[in-house]
Amino acid sequence: MNKTLVTTWTVRDICKGFTFSKAEGKGLFGLNGKLTIQPEYQRNYIYDKGGKDVDVIRSLMVGYPLGLLYFVKTGEDKYEVLDGQQRITSFGRFVNTTYPFSVPDEEGNPRYFDSLSPDMQQKILDTEMVVYVCEGDPSEIDKWFKTVNIKGEPLNDQERLNASYHGPFVTAARRVFSNSLNANMNKWLTYIKGDPKRQDVLKAALEWVSHGNIQQYMSQHRNDTSIAELQNHFESVIDWIGGLFDYTDSEVRGLPWGEYYDKYHETAYDRTAINNRVKELMQDPYVNNRRNIFAYVLGGETEPQLLDVRVFDEGVKRRVYEVQTEKAKNENISNCPLCAIGPEANAKKIWKITEMDADHVTAWSHGGATDASNCQMLCKTHNRAKGNR
Ligand SMILES: [Zn+2]
Repeated sequence: MNKTLVTTWTVRDICKGFTFSKAEGKGLFGLNGKLTIQPEYQRNYIYDKGGKDVDVIRSLMVGYPLGLLYFVKTGEDKYEVLDGQQRITSFGRFVNTTYPFSVPDEEGNPRYFDSLSPDMQQKILDTEMVVYVCEGDPSEIDKWFKTVNIKGEPLNDQERLNASYHGPFVTAARRVFSNSLNANMNKWLTYIKGDPKRQDVLKAALEWVSHGNIQQYMSQHRNDTSIAELQNHFESVIDWIGGLFDYTDSEVRGLPWGEYYDKYHETAYDRTAINNRVKELMQDPYVNNRRNIFAYVLGGETEPQLLDVRVFDEGVKRRVYEVQTEKAKNENISNCPLCAIGPEANAKKIWKITEMDADHVTAWSHGGATDASNCQMLCKTHNRAKGNR
């Protein structure tokens, strides 16, 4: 991989042919069309919120450095901004008069670029940028970008991979999965957490089709013009969830649906029964982990630990312990009912409360309640043994 430090591009150069999409709210191109500032369906320009764009212009006016910019070389004399999108869009908009904004001067009066003195205009336009340009093997570029200290607006993993593995596949995939205007996006966001413009939907789609090996998949398909496999797999997963579960509240958002699909999509389910169970469990006050209800019912309700079922509270445990222990002492047997019927050694042992755990007489998963009527204290060994059955 080659890294080149370029210090000859000025604000004037970068602003040549600057295009800003007002509809999408972001800078698109610069450097006479050679520079892609924000690729299609990348996140929006956010510097206009909170006055960061004004800070950028002030820095240029007083001659403070704007910091390093990072570009990826994507072709012969073609570049894509990897870090610096917001800074470039800020000065691009200020200098370009189509979508101008103003910066307050010392007296607080709004000054547009046009209303600055010619000297100040020159000073801004002549400012040289410090740009790292890198080109070469995508996985090396990705590795490098993971380690460099990007100050401006750090890219997330998927944004970085998109830049490193730029090509027809990423372009086609972004058009579908990173486009918030896509008619299916609302449905998809029922099950996927995040922002399509921050590449979260694309990330989920890639994760599902690649079974978690996103980088490898992107590398293999980098030059593909078709994203059919990616799209088909994604739609299969979404259709499978929607066809199975009615439930669409926030608990379903961001679950590892790709994994569930791989594991269970060939299992036949009674749709009515499974939806009734979900409803019941969602309302069960003993279930602490409601997001795992889906994995639990898909797996045939064999792993209640997924639900993190609420345990008996300390008051209940102490009361049950006292009753149980007094009765055992009277009968001269162990206060652990399983020790009491077991071999000699512990048959008459009175355990301390700290040596015992609370157990559901009727398992929670078989409808047993989590209250005193269904609580027994067992020695830790027997409780563990029972729990593992
Ligand atoms: Zn015992």
